[in-house]
Amino acid sequence: MRFVVTPPAIVSVPVAGTDERFPVHRIYCVGRNYAEHAKEMGFTGREAPFFFMKPADAVVAVEAGTQASMPYPSLTHDLHHEIELVVAIGTGGKNIKAADAHKHIFGYAVGLDMTRRDLQGEMKKQGRPWCIGKAFEHSAPIGPITPAAQAGPVEQAEIYLQVGGQDRQRSHVSQLIWTIAETIEHLSAAWDLQAGDLIYTGTPEGVAAVVPGDVLTGGVAGLETLSIKIS
Ligand code: MN
Repeated sequence: MRFVVTPPAIVSVPVAGTDERFPVHRIYCVGRNYAEHAKEMGFTGREAPFFFMKPADAVVAVEAGTQASMPYPSLTHDLHHEIELVVAIGTGGKNIKAADAHKHIFGYAVGLDMTRRDLQGEMKKQGRPWCIGKAFEHSAPIGPITPAAQAGPVEQAEIYLQVGGQDRQRSHVSQLIWTIAETIEHLSAAWDLQAGDLIYTGTPEGVAAVVPGDVLTGGVAGLETLSIKIS
């Protein structure tokens, strides 16, 4: 086959403990999925889960034991960190029931849903799409994916983010409003999940701004840590 322009490279994330890689299809993100984060954003009460997407090439894949660099994005003066547990889908499906959801999971990783909060806030106010606040280049740093069988009990795990060695976010995945299995049920009712999809499951409280020079280190107990420097 001959293409009229060079086709894009396949975006991929390292798999922990091997030289194999996970090819990224889509990136789904869950909004306001920890109660204390919903509160800090001005919302209370359980609402139906809602989703937004980032393009696959927003991924910044960070190799095990290394620190990657994320350029400070254009247009914003309020770049926020959101540390999140990421679920990697290994087997696709539609209308997946929560009870079957775990069969579709390849593994888990630590991710950052980097957000141009000022632009997102302006779009919210106007009832417009969040794309400009959420779906920009380098907005989805992610560490190596640990296969589910080796990941330990991630649903009870501690999740944290430090900036310059100081705690910014610290909670437990057990605080998720919509569990991983429930999230997969809701997502797969709306979209056909495919092998290669990533799901950023939401962030706990403590989101705040970072500036060039900041080093962000995030983790979920049982998974590879993630480190990036804002440049
Ligand atoms: Mn998020």
